[in-house]
Amino acid sequence: MVLVEMCLLQIYFVDTLGGAATLIITPQGESILVDSGWYTEDARDAKLILAAHPGLQQIDHYITTHWHCDHYGAIGHLSEMIPVKQFYDRGIPLSLPEDEKNFPFLIERYRKASGGNSRELRPGDLIGLRQSPGKPKVELQCVAANARVIPSLAYDCTNDLCKTNQPKPKDESDNAKSIALRVSYGSFQFFLGGDITWNVEYDLVCPDNRIGELDLYMVDHHGFDVSNNPVFLNSINPTVAIFCNGPHKGCSPQVVKDLKALPGIQAIYQLHRNVDTTEADNTSVEYIANPDPEQPGKYIKVSVPEDTKFFAVTIGEGGPQKPFACK
Ligand SMILES: [Zn+2]
Repeated sequence: MVLVEMCLLQIYFVDTLGGAATLIITPQGESILVDSGWYTEDARDAKLILAAHPGLQQIDHYITTHWHCDHYGAIGHLSEMIPVKQFYDRGIPLSLPEDEKNFPFLIERYRKASGGNSRELRPGDLIGLRQSPGKPKVELQCVAANARVIPSLAYDCTNDLCKTNQPKPKDESDNAKSIALRVSYGSFQFFLGGDITWNVEYDLVCPDNRIGELDLYMVDHHGFDVSNNPVFLNSINPTVAIFCNGPHKGCSPQVVKDLKALPGIQAIYQLHRNVDTTEADNTSVEYIANPDPEQPGKYIKVSVPEDTKFFAVTIGEGGPQKPFACK
């Protein structure tokens, strides 16, 4: 089965070896890039983003989830290669004590790329996207930023799972301040949360679940177990989960175990095999995009056709497609 590209929502999870870069092409042809991977002198991650979707003319919306160097390092190079129109972030801090080495250099490149012009996203903000009359609506909403979340809508609608929560000490790092986003296309629901951690995840689904059950979940924070609170995972209960991990980064055994135990999960994908853990701590080999750490670079792609009844997941260019029903 090969889906025709027109009228598809397309999502590429680009392999940036333990960073994150998610390229979304809307059915109307608008491009959204969430994070851009690492800075390297050879502009590796910018090239991988462009190679994922040949013919990409510009980035219409570029969102930095937070200021860790695996998330916005390549935007300087990318903006020298193609136009990047609108920048969004959580606000630029004066300094980043946890990364004094990289922050001054990278933020200077970010300011240059954005021309000092970026929009600060707050929970609840919608990013205006082009729509086609009579077609399913495509929406992109910020649901968390700066450790704050979209407000509770129905106080009488409580989530029973919240009682089982085991809170962790407050995370003061920039991870907790990540922008988290919800993407909807008709009935298709996708969540990508940058590197948000345990207590922010709890706040999104307690006392009531504002995220709802998902079709697709980009596993928070590369799959580290300081994120991926089981209360959150069981509340969003995704059909497909994708780890943007590296061979030696993320994809913690506990998170793999918790995802495998979810009632609704049908497939778990990883960009890399975690070579530091056992086979049982990884997903099945057919769902690993880059099983050999010496041969990285393959993306995972998700396509959602216009009827939004199902979505298909592909590994790399021309790989076999696996379809999954939307909820
Ligand atoms: Zn990260």
